[in-house]
Amino acid sequence: MIKARWRDDDNPVPGALKPVYNSSDHTLAGYRYTCVGCGGDSFLPVYDKSTGKGWEVVGDPEAVESLNIRPSIWHKDGCGWHGWLVNGEFISV
Ligand SMILES: [Zn+2]
Repeated sequence: MIKARWRDDDNPVPGALKPVYNSSDHTLAGYRYTCVGCGGDSFLPVYDKSTGKGWEVVGDPEAVESLNIRPSIWHKDGCGWHGWLVNGEFISV
């Protein structure tokens, strides 16, 4: 289990996230994410009902210590890490 934390772009550590906002309306676009398994850089877009893709944020999207997103995160084109972010903690499956 790895605690999620806000991402420092100068020192990204596995399990770090950073909210990214749409420039047009300042709504949440998604999270820049440093893979728990390999430290690779990726982006998790928030759920878009027009495409049916993306991650749903449950609870306060700016509270990393209690952040929940779903479905699970799977680095299928990379290291293969697969797990959930529940209550601010990454849990491997
Ligand atoms: Zn990875």
